[in-house]
Amino acid sequence: MILLDGKKTSADIKEEIKAEVSLLKKKGVKVPHLAAILVGNDGASQTYVGAKVKACEYVGFTSTLIRLDDNTTEEELLNKVREVNNNVDIDGLIVQLPLPKHISEIKVTETISPDKDVDGFHPANVGKMALNLPSYLPATPAGIMELLARYDVDTVGKHCVVIGRSHIVGSPMSILMARNTKPGNSTVTLTHSRTQNLKEITLQADIIIVALGKPEFLTADMVKDGVVIVDVGITRVPSTETKSGFRLKGDVKFDEVAEKSSFITPVPGGVGPMTIVSLMMNTLQAVKSRL
Ligand code: NAD
Repeated sequence: MILLDGKKTSADIKEEIKAEVSLLKKKGVKVPHLAAILVGNDGASQTYVGAKVKACEYVGFTSTLIRLDDNTTEEELLNKVREVNNNVDIDGLIVQLPLPKHISEIKVTETISPDKDVDGFHPANVGKMALNLPSYLPATPAGIMELLARYDVDTVGKHCVVIGRSHIVGSPMSILMARNTKPGNSTVTLTHSRTQNLKEITLQADIIIVALGKPEFLTADMVKDGVVIVDVGITRVPSTETKSGFRLKGDVKFDEVAEKSSFITPVPGGVGPMTIVSLMMNTLQAVKSRL
């Protein structure tokens, strides 16, 4: 079994980005600038945004964190997005999801300029992704593709089963794995909560990408020997063994599934860190595409 080590891989990529940024600086090109908008005080969202800003600083990007309170109206947020769209110094913009219930996520996503949409959620970027045209890819699926590429995992002609069809992970993952790219060229089955006989399907899988948010859902009896496992799930489960009072669990029963796997991502330290570097790669791309 080979561990698909997202922590190490993302650290390597950060060094590569850092080197590219200093090269840009030497050439007198502007340093990439990422803006993040955070609405409200959700603990998990603050942690995620904090990690993104820290990663930006590490690689030498400029970052701007725009904090808005819970009572911000939809129009106020849309105006802030438009302001960033029009700010020529900012290359990439993310609006941390989820948003408070009174704000439409799709309206916000559609208002972000597709050229600055480094999260890859704008319908124009999703459409380009489906057509295999150059675009910003959504961060988590892009991070998974990068991890598979760097470990040279063979995906051609393999049966890839994706569990979960969310717009941010499962759906784009199914599109990317089916595209004529490397990695890619898999035969993909996209499964979800209405799928019948899931175990029959997963037992036929060469690659399983699990993104449903149910801790330890995928068990050893559901997979065949030699399977490649990518575990996207992150759930906080109560624990008396940690200071924080919780532990992070993936969607895969790691110990027993690892024994049957050829490659597997751990949680934490697998997909999570790759998500953040994808965002950095997209932001760097935003600057390079204008050179
Ligand atoms: P979501 O909650 O939006 O969607 C869950 C999906 O799972 C749905 O499409 C649903 O149909 C499917 N599902 C539910 N029960 C099922 C079942 N019994 N069988 C088959 N499919 C079933 O999920 P999401 O936003 O994609 O997140 C999934 C998990 O991934 C969560 O734990 C989330 O925290 C984590 N996540 C991690 C990262 C990262 O960077 N590592 C990024 C995004 C999400």
